[in-house]
Amino acid sequence: MDCLFCKIVNGDIPATVLYEDDDVIAFEDIMPQAPTHFLVIPKRHISTLNDLTDDDAPMVGKLQITAAKIAKQKGISDAGYRVAMNCNEMGGQTVYHIHMHVLGGRAMTWPPG
Ligand code: 5GP
Ligand code: ZN
Repeated sequence: MDCLFCKIVNGDIPATVLYEDDDVIAFEDIMPQAPTHFLVIPKRHISTLNDLTDDDAPMVGKLQITAAKIAKQKGISDAGYRVAMNCNEMGGQTVYHIHMHVLGGRAMTWPPG
């Protein structure tokens, strides 16, 4: 599978891994848009949010719980942080393996651009 994030899952491309279990992996974003910016992704390839099914509910929940745990470990929980998932071109998606962005360490603006 010619997918960048599958290559990170498989260890073919290095990443600064923050957490890993059988279902999900979290790693630092290579081009951070905030002092803290990491990604949480399922290990199984899913191209976009449009491809999720009811069976994926536990995995999607785990993405969010993992994001919150790491945010706490990184000390950004109390001040606050942003979670974002981009879907397809107009949503700003550039890597077609779903991923949850977690950004913190600076004040976020709303609405996002
Ligand atoms: P998207 O635009 O699809 O929502 O987000 C893709 C994210 O993946 C971007 O924030 C980008 O910086 C990050 N990214 C792209 N290539 C790599 C890479 O090789 N390693 C890591 N760690 N992050 C990457
Ligand atoms: Zn993939």
